[in-house]
Amino acid sequence: MDDPKTPPARSHGRKAIRPSLKPRELMDPTPELARVWKAQVITLLPEAFPGILGQSLTGRALKDGLWQLETVALREFGDGKHRNVDDTPAGGGAGMVLRPDVMAAAIDDARGRIAPVAPLIYLSPRGIPMTQQMMQRLAAGPGMTLVCGRFEGLDQRVIDQYRMTEVSLGDFVLTGGEIAAQAMIDATVRLLPGVLGNEASTEEESFSHGLLEHPQYTRPAEWRGREIPPVLMSGHHGEIAKWRRAQSEELTRTRRPDLWADWSARKDKAD
Ligand code: SAH
Repeated sequence: MDDPKTPPARSHGRKAIRPSLKPRELMDPTPELARVWKAQVITLLPEAFPGILGQSLTGRALKDGLWQLETVALREFGDGKHRNVDDTPAGGGAGMVLRPDVMAAAIDDARGRIAPVAPLIYLSPRGIPMTQQMMQRLAAGPGMTLVCGRFEGLDQRVIDQYRMTEVSLGDFVLTGGEIAAQAMIDATVRLLPGVLGNEASTEEESFSHGLLEHPQYTRPAEWRGREIPPVLMSGHHGEIAKWRRAQSEELTRTRRPDLWADWSARKDKAD
């Protein structure tokens, strides 16, 4: 059962959310959608999806079939009558640990329905921190399988066996991987072609060039005695671009010395 290529005997415990298709078609990957970017989420809480991803731009793109979401309910792969998914930690201690055999069965089932090159990612506070660059790479691929932990996390052997990439939302501990998974899917899906339309540019925003974005303003021109910086009202595109660039650099230098050091080093090399 540990061979990820072995097709599983059962194919329950999954729910594909592809509202553009008729219900009957939802159960099988169709050639039409085979090339559509796909997020698979293995979770004890499938009802938490699509959650925020079903709203606004990501929700509209999901309905339009620009990406697809499939949840795999870990509970369905649980052991025995009670569909047991966890057990006490070896060596003692508080809490429960997700069982490797149960998780492996869910992974084997899920991986049969996604391109083999799609990364298998375990959301974990011990993982590498999420970055915009990571999201750009993921958006350029066929999709990803995300494993959400709960309780004290996942048995180490299943992480090792499947060579999962561990990815973290930040240096804090969540109660489960679902919020981190939704953050990751949101940040990736918005980079897919057609998702943002003309409503925003992903070229100029924070992190895209290694700098934080400049401040933004809108009407009214004066609010509580505060004015919009006059250069933005000048209509002089060259001056506006220069001002924005200077603001970007100043913000990055003062707020994020780590990003500033990386950016400066890259710039020195390019010069
Ligand atoms: N005992 C673990 C934390 C378990 S928290 C430890 O100290 O490292 C339960 C689950 O929440 C984890 O398995 C993981 O999937 C998820 N999680 C918690 N914090 C996270 C973070 N910062 N980023 C991504 N996932 C996180």
